[in-house]
Amino acid sequence: MDYIGHLFRPPSEADSLLLQVTVGCSHNGCTYCGMYRDPEQRFRLKPLEVVARDIEEAAAYDRDVEPIRRVFLCDGDALVLPTRRLLDILGLLRERLPHARRVGIYGDARTILRKDDGELAALREAGLGIVYHGAESGDDEVLRRVDKGSTAADAALAAAALRRAGIRHSVMVMLGIGGRERSREHAEATARLLTAMDPPFVGALTTTLVPGTPLFTEAEAGRFTLPDPWGMLAELRELIAGSTLTRCRFHANHASNYVPLSLNLPADRDVGLARLDALLRERDRSRLKPEHWRGL
Ligand code: SF4
Repeated sequence: MDYIGHLFRPPSEADSLLLQVTVGCSHNGCTYCGMYRDPEQRFRLKPLEVVARDIEEAAAYDRDVEPIRRVFLCDGDALVLPTRRLLDILGLLRERLPHARRVGIYGDARTILRKDDGELAALREAGLGIVYHGAESGDDEVLRRVDKGSTAADAALAAAALRRAGIRHSVMVMLGIGGRERSREHAEATARLLTAMDPPFVGALTTTLVPGTPLFTEAEAGRFTLPDPWGMLAELRELIAGSTLTRCRFHANHASNYVPLSLNLPADRDVGLARLDALLRERDRSRLKPEHWRGL
């Protein structure tokens, strides 16, 4: 496979074929993100013939080794590809990987909203099954500070557009991204945003300072301070208590999190809150994942 730089994918795409259709991220501006800062990952579309060659290689594997059931299109915000190019790639996948049941992709509010309803419906029809979207916060001040490039209102509109198209939506939010200073505003606004988006999947990650990023530099200079683990858990509690979700698989079991939590909301709401309340009451560090076990 023609892989350039390190490839990232959501945890739930661990068993998927990773097909790199773009390199890097077209925005590449979020202050906390260190994923595509290497010069070789400068943003560009990969030529269709290179992608087609990778699909042929995967087709041989599918035929001779084991069936490929899922495909994830990389890199950062691959949904930024022109719809025509995405339809060409989805067409090749359907033709050459007959066992593939689902295709996933990263997209952010800007790239989702750049496509109209007809384009999103065509992508769904061609096999695009799920978009992973880092909304991060519902607080516009936090989004501005981290240079997210979109607002909470954009994220809500993006969720509605995907729902109309019948594309599943997995939303990531970041505990601690507002720092200690805006922790409460961030948590409350993010709970409101989740209610407005009402997605079928939510993943809550814990912000980790990555060397080489502007946020890391801000923290070094004392201008940004992460909440402590209890502050992170209090934010998580607010996301669950303050949001109203119709039918959502809510994960807070990312490697970065202090406590793994997986809930079906709203059914498991009280169980989840009781667990977090007990942790927040007891404040026993031995019940949290040790810092050196936490990953990005
Ligand atoms: S949009 Fe995603 S990949 Fe791009 S800079 Fe922001 S967090 Fe990183």
